[in-house]
Amino acid sequence: MTNNNLVELRSFFAGKKYYVRTYGCQLNENDSEKISGILDEQGMTNTDNINAASVIVFNTCTIRENANDKIFGNLGIVKGIKRKSPDVIVILCGCMMKEEHNVTKVKSKYKFVDLIFGPSDIYKLPALLFNRMNEGGLICGIGDEDLIIEDLPVTHKKKFRALSTIIYGCNNFCSYCIVPYVRGRERSRAPEDVLKELKMLGDQGFKEVMLLGQNVNSYGKDFDSYDFADLLSDASKIDAISRIRFMTSHPKDTDRKLLDVMANGGNIMPHLHLPMQSGSDRVLALMNRKYSAGQYLDIVEYARKVIPDISITTDIIVGFPGEKEEDFSETLSLMERIRFDNAFTFMFSPRKGTPAADMDDQIPDDVMRERFSRLVKLQNKCTLESGMKTLNTVQTVLVEGLSQNSDKVYAGRTPHNRLVNFTCDKAIEEGDIVDVDITSVKTFSLNGRFLSFNSGNGG
Ligand code: SF4
Repeated sequence: MTNNNLVELRSFFAGKKYYVRTYGCQLNENDSEKISGILDEQGMTNTDNINAASVIVFNTCTIRENANDKIFGNLGIVKGIKRKSPDVIVILCGCMMKEEHNVTKVKSKYKFVDLIFGPSDIYKLPALLFNRMNEGGLICGIGDEDLIIEDLPVTHKKKFRALSTIIYGCNNFCSYCIVPYVRGRERSRAPEDVLKELKMLGDQGFKEVMLLGQNVNSYGKDFDSYDFADLLSDASKIDAISRIRFMTSHPKDTDRKLLDVMANGGNIMPHLHLPMQSGSDRVLALMNRKYSAGQYLDIVEYARKVIPDISITTDIIVGFPGEKEEDFSETLSLMERIRFDNAFTFMFSPRKGTPAADMDDQIPDDVMRERFSRLVKLQNKCTLESGMKTLNTVQTVLVEGLSQNSDKVYAGRTPHNRLVNFTCDKAIEEGDIVDVDITSVKTFSLNGRFLSFNSGNGG
């Protein structure tokens, strides 16, 4: 793009509004923040009103079959808008655009879409918009090279919490997951670039940073001698950031070095989200998860040894093809033993394009539902048990704003990532770190009352 092109682009878009709808995970949210940053740089402003936008962006997810159906369904609204305002530019991006059959469907059935690109092509947006301004028809920016582009403009959605993707892609090929086919191979950002960004975020006043990756703790595997534990240790030296979190870890890369760094505490929050998926070695092998239930338990026990009050949450899939009642019982007994602080629980849904979708012994829905309800019942008991440990204690809370249900109640999270709803008679705002007296406990949240501002690091 020449400077003249950039000037022409800005004069065309300046003052106009854009609308971004994000589907899926936090990595997609961070990608949408980069898309917003690029559009802001063109002199545009964000709007939550899709009808007021000159540029409409759907940043798609393809993790489950029905995600695609939902997005194509939502596109119906946009077709109506485009009919009324033909100059509106419609953009489809994200993981769905990395699947040939979806691109073919857009080209044949959704001709009102102007621009498509994949998760690794965001940096091309100014050039693609410029081409759209000067050419008709669908502009396709989908590339097959998985580059790491630094210093893209970013408009963070929250002013107190910043997302930072530090590693892209996944090499694990869990048999039920489409991510490696749409987000490419693992590639880590250079440590100096990540640390430079974290320092900048701290200086800009962000209290919390969430380090992101499909497998965040695989970070650095493409370097000689610098891994995720090293990065976390260096990041913990950035005092301007009160809270550092990371998501999503893979058990095969969760070593004692990492847990020892977490045990140093400081601004590293005592919360580890570690997807277990199943408690049966036979099912873990069918899932191609590359660890055993015993190895998983070793990690949890070591983590609790070096960080006694650590919060451990997980993901569990019920009804994986071939899962027998005894396999499921192993999952329940491992949960009984570990007593997770919380868990995201899923019923298996076959994802076209993954090995698991074509596996024999698909579990009938009624069997899957019955197992799912037993699993959720057990986990809810453990989650409530975990919350009860905080009753009549003082918790340090990073304020996220007013709670969803009331304009008199604030919401925020503890270092262990527990949601707290609390009353407060003082003027507080999002990003403040306060002490809250926990007065009652619900399964998925705590209730309390404001005590005082916390001048500490919020840990
Ligand atoms: S680790 Fe497995 S589940 Fe996670 S993104 Fe990679 S393939 Fe998917």
